[in-house]
Amino acid sequence: MNPNFLQTPIPYLKGVGPNRADTLKSELGIETYRDLLHLFPNRYLDKTQYYKISQLQSSGADVQVVGKIIHLKTVEQKRGKRLVAKFVDETGEMELVWFRAQKWIRENLKLNEPYVVFGRVNRYGSTFSMPHPEMELLKEHQQGLKISMQPIYPSTEKLSAKGITNRVISKMVQQLLLESKGLFQESLPTYILEELRLLPKSESLLNIHFPKSQELLARAQFRLKFEELFFVQLQLISKKLVRKQKIKGLPFGAVGENFSTFFNKHLPFELTNAQKKVIKEIRNDLGSNAQMNRLLQGDVGSGKTIVALMCILLAIDNGFQACLMAPTEILANQHYHGLKELLGKMNVGIALLTGSTKKSERNRIHEALQNGDLHILVGTHAVLEDKVQFTNLGLAIIDEQHRFGVAQRSKLWHKNNTPPHILVMTATPIPRTLAMSLYGDLDVSVIDELPPGRKPVKTVHRFDANRLKVFQFIKDEIKKGRQVYVVYPLIKESEALDYKDLMDGYESIARDFPMPEYQISIVHGKMKPADKDYEMDRFVRGETQIMVATTVIEVGVNVPNASVMIIESAERFGLSQLHQLRGRVGRGADQSYCILMTGNKLSEDAKTRLQTMVKTSDGFEIAEVDLKLRGPGDLMGTQQSGLLNLKIADIVKDNQILQTARYHALQLLKKDPALQNPEHASVKNAYATLAMGKDIWGYIS
Ligand code: ADP
Ligand code: MG
Repeated sequence: MNPNFLQTPIPYLKGVGPNRADTLKSELGIETYRDLLHLFPNRYLDKTQYYKISQLQSSGADVQVVGKIIHLKTVEQKRGKRLVAKFVDETGEMELVWFRAQKWIRENLKLNEPYVVFGRVNRYGSTFSMPHPEMELLKEHQQGLKISMQPIYPSTEKLSAKGITNRVISKMVQQLLLESKGLFQESLPTYILEELRLLPKSESLLNIHFPKSQELLARAQFRLKFEELFFVQLQLISKKLVRKQKIKGLPFGAVGENFSTFFNKHLPFELTNAQKKVIKEIRNDLGSNAQMNRLLQGDVGSGKTIVALMCILLAIDNGFQACLMAPTEILANQHYHGLKELLGKMNVGIALLTGSTKKSERNRIHEALQNGDLHILVGTHAVLEDKVQFTNLGLAIIDEQHRFGVAQRSKLWHKNNTPPHILVMTATPIPRTLAMSLYGDLDVSVIDELPPGRKPVKTVHRFDANRLKVFQFIKDEIKKGRQVYVVYPLIKESEALDYKDLMDGYESIARDFPMPEYQISIVHGKMKPADKDYEMDRFVRGETQIMVATTVIEVGVNVPNASVMIIESAERFGLSQLHQLRGRVGRGADQSYCILMTGNKLSEDAKTRLQTMVKTSDGFEIAEVDLKLRGPGDLMGTQQSGLLNLKIADIVKDNQILQTARYHALQLLKKDPALQNPEHASVKNAYATLAMGKDIWGYIS
């Protein structure tokens, strides 16, 4: 086959004119032969069976019948006309019905000629009726490509409106297969095909569209899933290898004064084993010749901050600056103060840069960064601005990375001649098996242990009807000197309503918890940052006992004295959000509580989420459930990984295949990193083509 065959623009395909091409592009993103070939069916109709009309039984079944039209008539009805055909075989009669395209049908249908019809039947009394059947003359049906399992392709309203029905798409694919003579270049090495007993490429493509049997379909699916995941892994792993080999890292060999002083004199607690392990992993990276790109995963409260600080000190000891970025101003603030406190009297320059930093302070920071007086810059996105220039940035730490995109990561890379080491910290637990595959280009460290002495948060689910009891409980806790969060959902689509809920809630709490006995803070996204910070601060300092808020407090806020988390309309939150919110309490020595408030009507998914929260506090277990409920796309956000644009594989359901694919990709690259070996020619070829295309590679920065 001509190697460029698959790049052929789709209008060249017989049966596809410019109009259809436009629709295919806008509705399904199909522009080339390759795109069409990779439009995989959602499901298949089994057409191995032919029914007699007398055998028809249930409404709603898809059936195939052979018979003749003996009569056609137009029936007037209130809302327009319908065309009705009397269709008979030797066992009985039924109706075929058209509401659209009646003229064309009337002119083209042949009476008294045997047809094969296929479609869904509805039963009216004793008569079966098939609306808009697929029809084929029996003699053509017998000559045509024998399709025993009919593919059902993804469809949209617009496609059907433009006449691009499933049958039309199916014909297009047939045409393509005909033109290609069914010969597609193999993309996997022979030894892998043999070892895993994979179906060859051509056979897989034929059988994914027009399966000859259930068994061949299963094998085709397996092979194509494997191939898809294999190439994603190949790409991720080779990117990592290239980075390790080509991008020289800044050497952080020495452990110097700052690190030692801090470790010996200022460490406020004994590090957990998990923290020690992770610091060791990071030090290994920093001491090697390669640039570090590491993801640090640790549940809320697992103590990532101290790990970050120790890495920062290592950077400083080796003569470099470091920055720590957080997604919100509140969090940046808290990090700044937290680090300052940890550093105590140590002679380290640290500053905070956010959107609300005053111009004079800003100028001072710019200068101090340039002349090297400033060692640590903590901040928000403001740190990324071009005006912010370091003399020698050696380490960049990003906290709660799910809010930072790939583009921002790459901006950091260019803050220094040699890219700084990068540590990304996240409290979003990602199931272990997935993390390694999703972030195949990052190294992953996990803090899988909480500091000692933490009491697990007691979590309960309460219905709104029990609100009074819940309020009484809050009062009791406040009497003991504790503080309480009350969190309301805020979702873009229902923002106005959600604000109303928040305000109503605030008022009702203000009524039940009157001043001066109780002081209440309120924080939400519509407030000016300064007002937000003021309210936050009052709560942090213990001047208010209740914090009413939207999810702005989700990330990072640390108030150890807060022991109760009330989550209103908890059924509307996702699991990972619930888990994050719950992580705001249980940070002090006291028993903490999380109360999930809901209405009475709960969907099955919502019930599962609530039960999971009540049952476990293990972030990884929660992440597994979340992944199953929501699928990976929602869970990870879109920009995170090419794995989310998969055409046929599913990283949750096909995790086993993913592991196999990853293993084989790794072995192959170990053996032949540049894909120079002749036995890998096919792989190299396919890899190059993929990199040109738009499929899974679009996301790569
Ligand atoms: P996160 O991983 O959520 O960012 P933090 O770094 O904010 O967690 O730590 C949570 C709390 O636990 C902080 O108050 C911190 O001082 C404390 N902490 C961290 N590590 C330890 C430890 N090894 N022993 C005791 N307390 C610790
Ligand atoms: Mg944190």
